[in-house]
Parts: sequence; structure tokens; C-alpha cells
Amino acid sequence: MTATMPADLIRPQIRALSAYPVPSSQGLVKLDAMENPYEWPASLQTAWAERLSTVAMNRYPDPQGTRLALALRRVMQVPESARVMLGNGSDELIQILLMAVASPGRVIMAPEPGFVMYRMIALWLGLEFVGVPLNEDFSLDRPAMERALDTHQPAVLFLAYPNNPTGNRWSRRDVEALIDRAPGLVVLDEAYGPFADDSFLPDVGRFERLLVMRTVSKLGLAGLRLGYLCGPPSWMDELEKVRLPYNVNVLTQVAAEFALDHHEVLDQQAAAIRRDREPLSQALEGMPGVTPFPSEANFILFRVSQGKGRRVFEGLQDRGVLIKDLSGQGGLLADCLRVTVGTPEENQQFLKALEGALATV
Ligand SMILES: *Cc1c(COP(=O)(O)O)cnc(C)c1O
Repeated sequence: MTATMPADLIRPQIRALSAYPVPSSQGLVKLDAMENPYEWPASLQTAWAERLSTVAMNRYPDPQGTRLALALRRVMQVPESARVMLGNGSDELIQILLMAVASPGRVIMAPEPGFVMYRMIALWLGLEFVGVPLNEDFSLDRPAMERALDTHQPAVLFLAYPNNPTGNRWSRRDVEALIDRAPGLVVLDEAYGPFADDSFLPDVGRFERLLVMRTVSKLGLAGLRLGYLCGPPSWMDELEKVRLPYNVNVLTQVAAEFALDHHEVLDQQAAAIRRDREPLSQALEGMPGVTPFPSEANFILFRVSQGKGRRVFEGLQDRGVLIKDLSGQGGLLADCLRVTVGTPEENQQFLKALEGALATV
């Protein structure tokens, strides 16, 4: 008998993928992952740690995270009629959603460029992914989306509102039209809700097949891994069946509850990030050859002169600043880089490094 090799067992679709790359940020100003750069006041940090020290680590967590879900409902103003499911990051909620609908031939759809996990998880589960190109200005190509919905009849349409990596928020009218047209579930991914001017959370229940997904990651708690999905009970009851028991650990439940009890800290930090986004965008606008795109998120996508994306990214890294290079994806993202809005000091460091990098490429 010959030894079984990975090639014999691992599905070809999986072997064709690469694992999600996370570059090392050691010693660099870290502006690549849309993290909130701010820490908590020392007194609250101490109280937080004390609260965590009381946690029964020998026991399984509350399987539904009941108290935390209640706190989220209250603080985030989830509509009364909606059910809330917690996930180990919203990434896990995407996985839960797609596991529940996965069957051969099913299609998952999202505009592109978009958030990579929709495509990745669809492929892991043997689903077909259809990406519908955005317009040049990253707005939704509504006629193209409508045609794609009619043609492919996707089980799930993901709409990130605002979108990552482009940063813009789509027209509400377009989104509503697509919700009406879509034959399957429509998931509004509001990871950047805290930095945006509009939300579909109040609309849960108003549309039969609308779910709204959010996360506390970009708000300032990326380390906890906590996402939440809101939707009508009829859908949520089914999704609940493919959620692993105890998917949100006890430390996350308690830590997030504490943070939500002091949500004004997070709100103030988000407000500072929103405020600092404008001067950062204007500074980029003022640099020769640099085009920033409008953002309602805590990051800014910008394009540099043709063919220079990769080298500008490397030049920034050489000067101690890590952002995200999207230029390799080509198409609408040719020569595009994405920078997270940091503290005012970090933003200055970034701008200075960018000036240096641009001067040498
Ligand atoms: C960051 C991000 C997520 C993932 O958030 P986690 O809760 O950290 O898993 C989901 N959707 C979009 C659009 C994102 O940018």
C-alpha cells in the first residue's frame, strides 16, 4: 500500500489556495489592519483586569452569551424583533451562514473588489463565488448587479456597508433595490458601522431576507474576536443549528460586556478616528500623484502613479510604516494602497514616510 499524500485527500480547490497571509509588523508603525490605535484609561484597564480575574475558567461559557447579547442589543440599538447571534469574529458568522446554505451548485455573490473572506469561505465549502465588478469610482454597478442576481440566483449576497478595501459606502437606494431583487439572503456587513453615516440595523425585520452583521473588531476590540449577526427569528433559528456550542469564549464574553458598560470610551475613540480621517485624506490629496478615495471607514484607500504601488509600499516599510498593498490585485485596485487611520502622531509618521517613499520611486 502506498502512503496517502495530501494530494490524494485534500480537495483540489483547497490545494489551489494559499493560507491567509498576515505580515509581521514587528518594529513598524502598524496601519495595515484597521485596528483602533487607542488604549484605555489606566483606571479602567485595572477594573477590566479585576473583572476578568473573577471568571470561572474551569467552566464552559454561557453557550448563547446571553448577557453579552443583551448588552449588545442595548448599546447598539438592535431592533426588538431581531435575534442576535454571537460569533468568534464576524468571520465565523460568515462561515456559519455559508455552512447553512452550502450545497453543490449554490452561488455566493458580492461586489468586487470586496472583503476576501466571502470568496475564501465559499471556496472552502465547495460553493461557487461570483464577484460583480464595481464601477471605476467604486460605486455599485446596479444594472450589472441586477443582471448577476437574475442570472446566478445567489443563495447569499454580501454587501459590505461601507466596503473594504475601498472605504466608500454605497447609495442606500441601490442597496434597497438589490435587497428587493435578490432571491436569497442579503447580508449587510457593517464592520465599519462605527465610522459611517448610515446603517441598515434599524431595517432588520423591515426586509424579510435581510441580515445585518457587525463586529467590535474595528471599533477597538479586535483582540477579543467578537462579531454579531442580527436578523429575523425564522432565519436565525436555522443558522443557530450550525453554530458550534461555546463558540465565544468566557474571557471574550466578560471582557466585551465590561467594554460595553463603558462604551463611551469606544465611542470617543471612534469619533477621534473619524475626525482625523479628514486631515489625513486632505494631506494625501495634496501629494503629487496620489489620489485618495472617499471613506466612511477607519481607513483610506489611495492610488499612486501608474506602476509604482508596490515600490511605494516597500518604501514605506523601509521607513518603518506598515500599510496594506493592494496593487498586486490589479484591475480597479491597480497601484492602490490602504492605510488605517491611526493616532495623529502615527498619521504624521505615515505621511512623512510616504513623502520620502514617493521621492525615491
Ligand atoms: C474586518 C472585516 C470583517 C471581519 O471582522 P472580524 O469580526 O474581525 O472577523 C468582516 N467584514 C469586513 C468588511 C471587514 O473589513
